[in-house]
Amino acid sequence: MSARVSTGGDLPPRGPSGEDLPPDGALPGPSSAAEPVPAGGSPAAGSVPAGDSLAGGSAPDGGNRLRVEELTVSFRLPGATVRAVTGASFEVRPGRCLALVGESGCGKSVLAHALLGLLPGNAEVAGRAHLETPDGSLELLGAPEAVLARRVRGRAVGLIPQSPATHLTPVRTARAQVEEALRELGHPRPRERADELALRQGLHPADLDRYPHELSGGMAQRVANAMALAGDPWLILADEPTGGLDRPLVDRAMAALRGLCDEGRAVLLITHDLRAAERVADDLAVMYAGRLVETGPAGRVLDRPRHPYAAGLVNAQPDRAFVPILGMPPELTRLPDGCAFAPRCPSADGACAAPPPMADGVACHHPLEDDRGVRAAARRASEDDRV
Ligand code: SF4
Repeated sequence: MSARVSTGGDLPPRGPSGEDLPPDGALPGPSSAAEPVPAGGSPAAGSVPAGDSLAGGSAPDGGNRLRVEELTVSFRLPGATVRAVTGASFEVRPGRCLALVGESGCGKSVLAHALLGLLPGNAEVAGRAHLETPDGSLELLGAPEAVLARRVRGRAVGLIPQSPATHLTPVRTARAQVEEALRELGHPRPRERADELALRQGLHPADLDRYPHELSGGMAQRVANAMALAGDPWLILADEPTGGLDRPLVDRAMAALRGLCDEGRAVLLITHDLRAAERVADDLAVMYAGRLVETGPAGRVLDRPRHPYAAGLVNAQPDRAFVPILGMPPELTRLPDGCAFAPRCPSADGACAAPPPMADGVACHHPLEDDRGVRAAARRASEDDRV
C-alpha cells in the first residue's frame, strides 16, 4: 500500500514517464484532441465546447482509462480512525461496466467520492487514481480542487448520485437544474441541449418543467442520468443509482447503464444489489470491510465465486440458495489485523489471523476451488443457521 497520505493537492507532479499532470493540473497535449464529441456520436450540435472535455464519450475506446492503485481512505474521529477503504486497485475501460458490490457500509461510496474529490475535510486519502485520456493522464487523488471542478467532475466523469429524487433541489424544476449544469459546463444552448438529453433518456422535454416531487422515481432517475451526461463524460460513476426503485425500474435503470457502455462509455457501478449488477456488469469487484476481496469477469464471479464472502453474497440471492450470510460486518474503526471476514467465514482457520493477500483475483487463504466449494459453504451456513 502506498505510504502517501493526501487530503488533496499534495502530490508532486511526475515526469513524462510517470505520465501525470503538470503542476497546474492541466492535461498536456494539443487542444484539438478535445474537440467536442457529442453523446452517442450524433452531430456536434449541443456538444460541450472544445477544451472543456478531457475526452468525448463517443470514442469506442479512444485511449481512455481509469486506473486505481492501492486506494486507501480513512477518517480521523476523536478517539478513533475509520478505515473506510484499504488498498483498492482496479481498472475501468470504455465499453465496459465494472460493478463494485458489497453490503451497505463496506466503503463503496466512500471510494467513489474519493475519486471525485468529494470527501469531507477529515478524510485522509492514499494511493493513486490515474484518469488516462489520449491527451495525457491526471492523477485524481492529488489533483487540486480547481482542476477537479473544471476538468473532471461533470466533464470527464459524470456522477449519477444515490437516490436521484432526493438529490434534486425540491424548489426548482428539473429543467432549471439540468440547464444550470449545462451553463456551468459552458454550453452555448442549454435549453436545446437539455431537451436533447431528456429525449435520449426517454423523457418528453415537457417533463423537465416539472418539480422533483412531480416526477416518478423512474423519471427522477432519468433526469439524474441526463445531468450526468450533460458534459459528455466518457466515464459514468453510478453510486447506488437504484435506491428506492422497484424491480422493473431497477431493470430499466440497468438497461440504461448498459446502453451507455454500448455507446462507448465506461461505467463504474456502486451497488449492494447483486441482481442489478448481474444485468449490466462486465466485471465485478466484491468489497468487504473496505477491501476488495474478489475481482474478475462478472459471469465467472457470479457463477463460481472463489472468496467465501462472494460465495455468501451469491448464495443469499433469492434465485440461488437464499441463505443469508450469518453475523454482521465488523466496525470499520475496529478492523482485525487478519481477514476481516473470519468471524463469519465457514472456512476460517488459524491461517486467517494473517491478512490474506490478493492473488489471482481473490484475497483468501482458502479460496473455494469450484462450485462444490460454494455449495459446501452454503450448506455449512445453512446448518449453522439451524443450530
Ligand atoms: S482468509 Fe480465511 S477467514 Fe478470510 S475468507 Fe478466506 S478462509 Fe475465510
